[in-house]
Amino acid sequence: MAFFGLRLFRYGTDHVKIQLLPSTFDAEGHATQEQRLTCYLVDDRVAIDAGSIALSMTPAQRNTVRDIIVTHPHMDHIASLPIFIDDLFGFLESPIRIHATPEVIELLERDIFNWTVYPRFSELRNEHGPVMEYVPFRAGEEFRVAHLSVTAVNVNHIVPTVGMIVSDGRTTIAFSSDTAETEEFWKLVNATPHVDALLIESSFPNSMAKLAEDSRHFTPESLARELSKLGHNGLDILTVHLKPAYREQVARELRALAIPRLEIMEIGRAYEI
Ligand SMILES: [Zn+2]
Ligand SMILES: [Zn+2]
Repeated sequence: MAFFGLRLFRYGTDHVKIQLLPSTFDAEGHATQEQRLTCYLVDDRVAIDAGSIALSMTPAQRNTVRDIIVTHPHMDHIASLPIFIDDLFGFLESPIRIHATPEVIELLERDIFNWTVYPRFSELRNEHGPVMEYVPFRAGEEFRVAHLSVTAVNVNHIVPTVGMIVSDGRTTIAFSSDTAETEEFWKLVNATPHVDALLIESSFPNSMAKLAEDSRHFTPESLARELSKLGHNGLDILTVHLKPAYREQVARELRALAIPRLEIMEIGRAYEI
């Protein structure tokens, strides 16, 4: 018990807890390692993207997550965001805050919360007040989200998309979001004095380089080239966003790169970084 207590203490003071939420479950209801949707929980308080946000959080997490950073409006990153707000509608005592660039907010309002696909929650209230509000941020400018400081920059994807650095003041984590080869993100990462972990996408196998390029994603090969821009040593590199249909192949090709401290992020596991 003492050991358990010590771990909790350490988590409270030294670590950022990060979890990639499951999005697919087998016939017995157990989470699988297939990532169809994207949603990271940071310290059970802040979500980065909201693909699986309504599907696999614990009741406790559902009660503490009120801030969501949306990197871009692709379905796999926002799929269950409307359902999450719908579930909580009658219970919220403060609004769900959606942090995004003005471009992404405009797309969410136009294409998702448009009264046709789903209600415009930004105009709705429960007995306590508004249920959802947008908190716009500008690329390149640091902003606060709950206990975290965040700086986001545009990356190279098919729609407006940001990657970001997130820090609780002690631990700093970089997230690429969905991207092909990019520059601003590496400038941001390399200008940050210390980075503990990098979460970066590797969507398609090497044999699908053309599709990866056209849809602005990495293959293990293009990721390896990209990582030559990383100016830090000794950080953990967690690869994410492996297309489920090619997961084994992408995993083999990632292992073959033999890059130190690079591994595939385990879905559902709470990492303490
Ligand atoms: Zn995308
Ligand atoms: Zn995606």
